[in-house]
Amino acid sequence: MLMPGGVEKPEGPLLALKDVSRAFGVRRGWLGEQRRLIAVDRVSLDVSAGESLGLVGESGCGKSTLGRLACGLLAPSSGQVLLEGRALPLAGARSWAAGRIQMVFQDPFSSLNPRMSARAAVAEPLAAQGVPRAEQRRRAEEMLATVGLDGLGGRYPHEFSGGQRQRIAVARALITRPEVVICDEPVSALDASVQAQVLNLLRDAQERFGPAYLFISHDLAVVGFMCRRILVMYLGQIVEEAAREQLFAGAAHPYSQALLASMPTGALRKEGELLPPPLEGELPSPLNPPPGCRFHPRCPKAVGICRREPPAWKELAPGWRARCHLA
Ligand code: SF4
Repeated sequence: MLMPGGVEKPEGPLLALKDVSRAFGVRRGWLGEQRRLIAVDRVSLDVSAGESLGLVGESGCGKSTLGRLACGLLAPSSGQVLLEGRALPLAGARSWAAGRIQMVFQDPFSSLNPRMSARAAVAEPLAAQGVPRAEQRRRAEEMLATVGLDGLGGRYPHEFSGGQRQRIAVARALITRPEVVICDEPVSALDASVQAQVLNLLRDAQERFGPAYLFISHDLAVVGFMCRRILVMYLGQIVEEAAREQLFAGAAHPYSQALLASMPTGALRKEGELLPPPLEGELPSPLNPPPGCRFHPRCPKAVGICRREPPAWKELAPGWRARCHLA
């Protein structure tokens, strides 16, 4: 297949992270020693055209940093982020990748400029691409109508409800017809009743415009609703990758099992089978990750080797693998 410009479309995933790490320097106080916090530690993942890949984990596990790496808002400390096999440049520059990966953030109020009308906010990515003004306005109005805000383009963020503001953020993300949208906790700031509307909007938008989603959430129920393939992240690392059905029917990693057990819907528990108790204890600091398996201080199944050796990936079935000595 040929891409615009007559270039041959490369085989393989649309978006790929290969062994990507991201570290930050952290200093305690003015004179404190500078320490290295590894927020994302050697993560590899693939997103295919049109799919929804879920990324679930507790707050502070590095998933938002991973989202920013995947759309070029952050540069990796090591490893590669590839879009159709080419290294992704940092966002903001006018490059071959501009507009091809977009992001929807958790808090639509802080991601929208209060002094910019909904129409101008939605049109902004087109302005950055040098699209003529009349065309920007036409396409922004059209996209606002698509997300259910027909005729409201002249209003400002404070005149909308939280759900409506997130609709504006979705319209803004879709305006360039991106191939990938990184959705970072897109409904966690919304009331439960509005969450379903925004999730349905995202699903409809995917059917209509066809972008792939990397869908990031702390809520396994939300990720399960949106995605057929799910990655579970703990303290900067992916610890399980599975199809939704595999994960919900019999998660292999004790951390994934604990996430399932914390879900409010007991319906996901298999009849006659007790899942382990919901997760206890705090996520350890990424400044000082535990040795061996990072989950061992909280794992109800930990044995001696878990405290000494980091577990390698174990393949359990096609597309299903877990990083646990006992999987
Ligand atoms: Fe628990 Fe050990 Fe598996 Fe880690 S490797 S999840 S500590 S059983």
